[in-house]
Amino acid sequence: MNIPLSSYPRIVIIGGGFGGVSLAKKLSKQEVQVVLLDKNNYHTFQPLLYQVSTGGLEPDSIAYPLRKVLIGYDNFYFRLAEVSEIEPAHKKIKTNIGELTYDYLVVATGSETNFFGNGEIERHAMSMKSIPQSLNLRSLILENFEQALLTDDYHERDALMNFVIVGGGPTGVELAGALAEIKKGILPKDYPDLDTRRAQINIVQGGDCLLPGFSNQASKKAEDFLEELGVQVWKGVRVTGYDGKTVTTKTDLVFQSAAVVWAAGVKGAMVKGMDVADVLAGGNRIKVNEFNQVVGYPEIFAIGDIACMVTEDHPRGHPMVAQPAIQQGKLLGENLVKLLEHQPMTPFIYNDKGSMATIGRNKAVCDIKGYRFQGVFAWFVWMFVHLFFLIGFRNRMVVFINWVYNYIRFDREARLIIRPYKRDYSQFKD
Ligand SMILES: Cc1cc2nc3c(=O)[nH]c(=O)nc-3n(C[C@H](O)[C@H](O)[C@H](O)COP(=O)(O)OP(=O)(O)OC[C@H]3O[C@@H](n4cnc5c(N)ncnc54)[C@H](O)[C@@H]3O)c2cc1C
Repeated sequence: MNIPLSSYPRIVIIGGGFGGVSLAKKLSKQEVQVVLLDKNNYHTFQPLLYQVSTGGLEPDSIAYPLRKVLIGYDNFYFRLAEVSEIEPAHKKIKTNIGELTYDYLVVATGSETNFFGNGEIERHAMSMKSIPQSLNLRSLILENFEQALLTDDYHERDALMNFVIVGGGPTGVELAGALAEIKKGILPKDYPDLDTRRAQINIVQGGDCLLPGFSNQASKKAEDFLEELGVQVWKGVRVTGYDGKTVTTKTDLVFQSAAVVWAAGVKGAMVKGMDVADVLAGGNRIKVNEFNQVVGYPEIFAIGDIACMVTEDHPRGHPMVAQPAIQQGKLLGENLVKLLEHQPMTPFIYNDKGSMATIGRNKAVCDIKGYRFQGVFAWFVWMFVHLFFLIGFRNRMVVFINWVYNYIRFDREARLIIRPYKRDYSQFKD
């Protein structure tokens, strides 16, 4: 990997997401050698992926080069590498570009889509966990409308314009709202020769409310906002299959759809070597103690989505959102220094800053530290918070200008089919 030996202890971080980047920044001025590995050479701001999928933002504005994160810091190395295995017994990791030993290892690999073992849905539905997946979805949405224009078969035409979003969490709700706005504001202008009023956006939620984990007030208001925008909300309906044409559910309800987005669950992005019985927690996560130390492996730590720290307040681990990852990354930076100085480490206490989701123009819901508010003010708060946490001044400016432009012009200019979507079935074993 061409990383020099150093007199400083080597800390290897797998994953340059919210957790990995926060940790790397904290360690940047310490007497340690930091090696950050990621399978992408950029950090992805996942909360805005749905805006890339729906043509509201270009992908570059929500990505940030990892090499730039710590430019100018000594003892910092980034390598573009996918880690395939951890060998704790030899304090070594294996990657597609070679092997590397570590003194301390931090697993910050985040999460991946959870299809709950349903191979048929995995083969045919779309995910939205990365920039390439969001671009695929953007292409599919636009290609479906181009196709709908050409077909004489009205059943096929309806299916091409029928969107089914499975999962009523923030991702599903935000995507449904954005699609509804496209239907209302953009499709009639882009496709005057197509009856786009027939386009349907369905959100299907297995539980009995949208935005579980939010207050009842926020959940109810989000549903009202979606219905105002013409989204069909189906609650208490479990999707059981999708063969590329028909969505089946546990009830009699079926949907004919050429675009199904699976936003119904995530699981930890596990690395071989940590998938052992005494470490594996529910949701494919890694069991850690209050210092984010992997149970039974004192030199290995896990932070963010992949880490499951069971506490009284969070008996199933912290929510898989950005704040726990950022906070754990920062604290672990301090704790690793303490560990090297033989000082006692500080236990992690999650500061829950609240939850928010946007449904569309002037429509958002926020539950922040006991305050619950919805509508225009919530929408401004949502925008401010997202701009604040985006990495990079240029990205903040580009996103801000895009949002102002889109707001004034009722537009989404990035509705481009740059790379036609083709499903790659080779990734599936059977
Ligand atoms: C569509 C969507 C919307 C979201 N919206 C919100 C929101 O509004 N608010 C919120 O708080 N949270 C939101 N989240 C969740 C939030 O993005 C995650 O909780 C957060 O990114 C977790 O941070 P992390 O550092 O644990 O992992 P990530 O940010 O996912 O980073 C993991 C990194 O590890 C790398 N990696 C993974 N495996 C390997 C490997 N084997 N080898 C090398 N590199 C690897 C990945 O490339 C990635 O860069 C959203 C997530 C999605 C998908």
